[in-house]
Amino acid sequence: TNFWASVPQGPPDPILGVSEAFAKDQSSNKINVGVGAYRDENGKPYVLESVSKAEDILHQKRSNKEYLPITGEADFVKLASELAYGKDCKALQDGRIAVSQSISGTGALRIATGFLSMFYSGPRVVYLPNPTWGNHIPVVEQTGMRVARYRYFDKKTVGLDFDGMKEDIKAAEQGSIILLHACAQNPTGIDPTQDQWKELCEITKAKKHLVLFDMAYQGFASGDIIRDAFAVRYFVEQGHQILLAQSFAKNLGLYGERIGTFSMVCTNKEEKDRIQSQVKRVIRPLYSSPPLHGAQLVATILGSPELYEQWLGEVKKMADRIIAMRERLYDLLVEFKTPGEWGHIKSQIGMFSFTGLTPEQVDALKDHAHVYMTRDGRISMAGLNEGNIQYFAESVSKAVK
Ligand code: PMP
Repeated sequence: TNFWASVPQGPPDPILGVSEAFAKDQSSNKINVGVGAYRDENGKPYVLESVSKAEDILHQKRSNKEYLPITGEADFVKLASELAYGKDCKALQDGRIAVSQSISGTGALRIATGFLSMFYSGPRVVYLPNPTWGNHIPVVEQTGMRVARYRYFDKKTVGLDFDGMKEDIKAAEQGSIILLHACAQNPTGIDPTQDQWKELCEITKAKKHLVLFDMAYQGFASGDIIRDAFAVRYFVEQGHQILLAQSFAKNLGLYGERIGTFSMVCTNKEEKDRIQSQVKRVIRPLYSSPPLHGAQLVATILGSPELYEQWLGEVKKMADRIIAMRERLYDLLVEFKTPGEWGHIKSQIGMFSFTGLTPEQVDALKDHAHVYMTRDGRISMAGLNEGNIQYFAESVSKAVK
């Protein structure tokens, strides 16, 4: 017998599939703006100087390779939550936030949905923005929860559909779970303003919704880690019992180290202890305990005033290079008299720009110009640099004409 004859071929991953196609392309002009990973001014993957220094320190220490506790490395967990919530966060000082190390942001989200599917007594539905990062959908559905959507993107203005967003969140059944991108929304690059966040905070509170923040880009949106944490910190200040998925993939360039945290703000310390005991029961059968190295790296950087300062500078440098590429791309598209309005490229923030290119134009760019992006027209701004931006803009211009 063949046990697997009836297993169908799965579809390629819409994002990672782009990189696979790119790798096969032999052209020397080829450009990959598909994957959301930072590239330096030469188009190369970038290891932060602060990370290299932390690697040296760890190498000297030659610490052992014992298992970490289920909830991860204690120093890391403490420093990471201070970064997200702020050292002066009352809930943090009260010791009522349950924090665990996670397998980067994805792992944190999966712990969240695992926990919710076991313990949440409200509606078993997670509201995601439309559009959102594609992986949110299976992360929710694989734990038996249902996905619903709230409006987010306004095609006409290529901006935020704030009225639609509010309407949908208000119309959701009381106590629904609302996922919010904390900053640098993927894929649109469009975030609510601080005033809009305040309104969202009130609306979700009035509806007794449970808010799950996904913070994969702290520091990447504005270059300032405090500014980018505004929404998370504000909601907590206002008494929301948020859940938070935090990733260090982008802001520390630690993609492959798979390092992040999952946390839940509780009402008191006793509750936190209960919650944490159950979070452990979610994690244990998934992977027992998290990996060591990334946690040690992040703890070394965040725990050293000197490396921390250096890192802040490096985050800002990455964010600034992306912002410079936005300006440059806009100028070139205008210079090439590209039909349409391209101002959104400059106003969008974070890693991505949602260009408005159609799937057909995306296909044409791949087939005729060796330019690779996801079919929703999202481009990773970090894939552009002085060496390729002229060719990129020219190719886009041609595809649109
Ligand atoms: N959330 C969003 C919105 C993302 O864009 C990403 C990365 N593409 C993640 C979560 C998770 O990334 P990671 O698991 O690498 O931290």
